[in-house]
Amino acid sequence: MDLNLICYKCGASSKDKKFVDYLCIDCFINERKKRIPDELSIKICKICGKMKVSTWTRDIEKIKEELTKKFSKYNPISINIKEDEVIITFFDNVEFDKNIKIRREYTLCEVCSKVRNKYYEAIIQIRKKEEKVKETKMKIEEEKLEEIKDEVIKLLKNKTFITKIEKLKFGYNIYVGSAKDILPLISKLKIPLKITRKLYGESAGKKIYRTTFLLRV
Ligand SMILES: [Zn+2]
Ligand SMILES: [Zn+2]
Repeated sequence: MDLNLICYKCGASSKDKKFVDYLCIDCFINERKKRIPDELSIKICKICGKMKVSTWTRDIEKIKEELTKKFSKYNPISINIKEDEVIITFFDNVEFDKNIKIRREYTLCEVCSKVRNKYYEAIIQIRKKEEKVKETKMKIEEEKLEEIKDEVIKLLKNKTFITKIEKLKFGYNIYVGSAKDILPLISKLKIPLKITRKLYGESAGKKIYRTTFLLRV
């Protein structure tokens, strides 16, 4: 028996076109596309350029992963990120693409806003012993301190962020935005270390501590 279907949206006949669920394939796809948002908002950091769908990142693969999650109920199978839009291929009985416009929201990422506010949770103090030494020896000590300062900066890079560096008569202060990764990193220097932690204040019901790491050179 030859069952002839007529699309109730456009009047096309199943003799001419593939049908899905009593609709011609084009009308079926249009209906599915309507359920998927036309726009998508992505935050962009004005300073460092990192992007955020759900977490701040520069990694396009990570953004694709998060978009896949975001659109998971529509069953995305591939994502292509362009300048002003993302083209997502979905599968629901058939494969189809939808171009979703990117709405950019320029803001500051967590790290850049903390740096801008000179926020810090820790100070790394690099100090030499406060004793009088000969002019020539002093130069060697200064160089040694600077070397250690550079070493500390190198160790912290990419793991946490530095908001300020001060040069003092007897050494350096390095202000660090997040205290949590510091200890394992600077322990690598194998320099005697003294740690003190003080309650600094409260913000949004959360206690804020400031930790001082003293490196005695
Ligand atoms: Zn139709
Ligand atoms: Zn940033």
